[in-house]
Amino acid sequence: MSDLITIDEARKRVLSAVTRLGDEAVALAAALGRVLAEDVTSPLPVPPFDSSAMDGFAVVAGPAAELSVVGEARAGHPYSGRVEAGSAVRISTGAVVPDGADAVVPVERTTAGKEEVSVPESAPGENVRRAGEDIPLNAVVLRAGIQLGPAELGVAASVGRAELECAKKPRVAVLVTGDELTEPGTALGPGAIYSSNAYALGAQVERAGGDVVQRVTVPDDAEGTRRALKEALGADVVIVSGGVSVGPHDHVKPALRDLGAEERFWGVSLRPGKPTWFGVRGDTLAFGLPGNPVSAMVTFQLFVRPALAAAQGRAPDAPRLIATLERPIERNPHREQAVRVHLLPSQNGPMAAPTKDAQGSHVLTSMVGADGLALIAPGEGEAPAGERVEVELL
Ligand code: AMP
Ligand code: MG
Repeated sequence: MSDLITIDEARKRVLSAVTRLGDEAVALAAALGRVLAEDVTSPLPVPPFDSSAMDGFAVVAGPAAELSVVGEARAGHPYSGRVEAGSAVRISTGAVVPDGADAVVPVERTTAGKEEVSVPESAPGENVRRAGEDIPLNAVVLRAGIQLGPAELGVAASVGRAELECAKKPRVAVLVTGDELTEPGTALGPGAIYSSNAYALGAQVERAGGDVVQRVTVPDDAEGTRRALKEALGADVVIVSGGVSVGPHDHVKPALRDLGAEERFWGVSLRPGKPTWFGVRGDTLAFGLPGNPVSAMVTFQLFVRPALAAAQGRAPDAPRLIATLERPIERNPHREQAVRVHLLPSQNGPMAAPTKDAQGSHVLTSMVGADGLALIAPGEGEAPAGERVEVELL
């Protein structure tokens, strides 16, 4: 690990190894969080017809007048006749504005009897929503590559789509290694700890649009590691945590190499997260992440998340912004640091405040509630309070 590469270089190597997965049709109700694989065009204007923005009376625009009420237009039940000067149709919000009418007078501005209504002056177009005002016919409403959220699903439904072409979800195997690892919910033996990585990493995979197809704990022995990895390499992406260093009980790298995974990097100039391995076998990406829980989550964010995004045709880079440091941070002389921060509003724009002073790679609570990772360049001394730093949003 003598030649540590930068975060950017590591990311570049990961992205150059990604293959875009295929697409599949997904029902709208199941498409939240999926990545859209088509441009969605509207086959109709939305609203589809001129409709009323208010409950009131549809009229021919003109001066104040006493009009005779000739019918009613309700949402979903158009009035079939025509509105002439001197007459009005009672109308509800969302109903079709009847032929002949070109304005709606809100009910609270009228005095209505059963057959008559007196209306104030009105101008053409008043309280009328024009057909296509939201979406013109044939407009592209959603672009390939976006992640579908509630508004996007609503828009797809409003143009009549029941299904959308989405990128297939990357199938991800999550392996955690260590004889000390114990499943939560069972008692801890001597020297044992609960396996947090299996759950934190699994959740990161799901949030990044991946499908966790395996979640396996692997003991620290060469044969067990090899067997588990052999099966895992059938997935699109394999994530292994721990066992990737150079100790006598670290079997991950030799096993991956044995199984034909070709190394693309080993060791990143990053704290936490230096002992990170990345390799490729066929179309499968394999990540050997450090076992320390913060290192595992940070390296997932910086290297695995972009790969899962790109495999789905989504822009790989997580959003970043510039923030000022709320307090000084000791620089690392050689490695870039990823400091877990809250983002707070301030007069000088967003301010990055470490979630905890203790930023050790085992202090998993430093990730709780973190808004981002502040990236602190290597160097001597400290990065002073007020220094402008880049923050990758989590
Ligand atoms: P390793 O990379 O295997 O040397 O592990 C580094 C540190 O991370 C050790 O303290 C491990 O006990 C810890 N660790 C490894 N895997 C996990 C896990 N799944 N959950 C929590 N801690 C872990
Ligand atoms: Mg270990």
